[in-house]
Amino acid sequence: MSEDQSKAKDASYKKRMQRKKAHVDARIEEANIDKGIIVLLTGNGKGKSSSALGMICRALGYDMKIGVAKFLKGDQDTGEDIFLAKQPNVQISRMKTGFTWDTQDKAYDIAMAAETWTEAQAYLKDKSLDLVVLDELTYMVSYKYLDESAVLDALNNRPKDQHVVITGRAASENLIKIADTVSEVKDIKHAFRANIKAQKGIDL
Ligand code: ATP
Ligand code: MG
Repeated sequence: MSEDQSKAKDASYKKRMQRKKAHVDARIEEANIDKGIIVLLTGNGKGKSSSALGMICRALGYDMKIGVAKFLKGDQDTGEDIFLAKQPNVQISRMKTGFTWDTQDKAYDIAMAAETWTEAQAYLKDKSLDLVVLDELTYMVSYKYLDESAVLDALNNRPKDQHVVITGRAASENLIKIADTVSEVKDIKHAFRANIKAQKGIDL
């Protein structure tokens, strides 16, 4: 490439980036609403609960106060449970039961879900909490362990600046509707299917 051609290429690149910057700046200017949002992380791939934990870390960086309700697998100790237990700004409520196929007792699971939901509801009324994480909540709604309309009411009536992160596979239409940001994590590959057991720091 000649020197002239190279200069023309640089100038054209600069022009394109200037146009892009003007567009991005205009979009940033337009986004001027400040409110608590609902983030819903669903899908079959790995990364939903660990993404919620990433947002907890962000919020902790700003000294925000957080409530975490863990549905479904609250009886299993993971690395994040050990970490969260040490955080003075985090309150945590863990459903005292495991997978439905482990407990094989639906009535007990429903009672445990209701107990954790009572605590989650209190978080969703607490103005001092900036962020509420409802981990694996989607299953409670799809298994009908919790009444969907009660869940939607509690979400709708929460303090207006409070953020909520909901995780779990197969989110219902209504949860998708009520959420402001929805991401579906797609399963392309998972080490477990190659017989690699769950790894500390990655899977638990
Ligand atoms: P993570 O907590 O790692 O972000 P997740 O919240 O997206 O995962 P869950 O369905 O809650 O997914 O399952 C949690 C556990 O199951 C983790 O150990 C994770 O690695 C594993 N897991 C997640 N997705 C899959 C999958 N598609 N196949 C096998 N194991 C999975
Ligand atoms: Mg999860």
